[in-house]
Amino acid sequence: MNIILFGPPGAGKGTQAKYLEKKLNSFQISTGDILREEIKNNTEIGKKIINAMSEGRFVSDDIVNKLLEMHVFDPKKKNKLIFDGYPRSIEQAKNLDLLIDRSDQKIDYVFFLNVSKDTIIKRIQKRKILEDRIDDELDTILKRYDTYMETTKPVLDFYSKNTNFHELDGSHEIDKITNKIQAFINV
Ligand code: AMP
Repeated sequence: MNIILFGPPGAGKGTQAKYLEKKLNSFQISTGDILREEIKNNTEIGKKIINAMSEGRFVSDDIVNKLLEMHVFDPKKKNKLIFDGYPRSIEQAKNLDLLIDRSDQKIDYVFFLNVSKDTIIKRIQKRKILEDRIDDELDTILKRYDTYMETTKPVLDFYSKNTNFHELDGSHEIDKITNKIQAFINV
């Protein structure tokens, strides 16, 4: 089963992805984590993306698409993909369609975790204390939210007409959201 978790930063995509990863014996594909790892390891890509990431801007599609491709084509991960933070633009959504098609897979579910701006700000400020992320300062959170509204939200139109698309109230407690997802995927 391949699943896309969609929603603004702080919606709880990572939390639910980790749950699904365990439950389905699948692989969380968090482009944010993949990119942070490049920065941590001080790779050539890491050096290129550190400014964009710390300022809450998107990393270029070229870089993200390339890093994503190897996961989609990894035979070990076939039909076990939980996308968290990708796609984030129409171009990325089209790219993912292409990669999924070329690797002879399909997307089984798209879950949209919908959360208000106020909740996001509160949650991310809490996360900053726990995880010390470079992009969890208030002005960066606001920038990431604006980027989401401008670039990522339009991707909803791309998926929302499909029967595998489900909107969930992301302001609910973690377990409540997990239960809803579980009811849909029926495992
Ligand atoms: P996340 O951990 O998903 O909140 O992502 C953290 C940051 O990584 C984002 O604010 C972007 O700078 C970058 N990033 C993660 N995923 C993508 C993506 N699909 N496209 C572009 N930039 C991304």
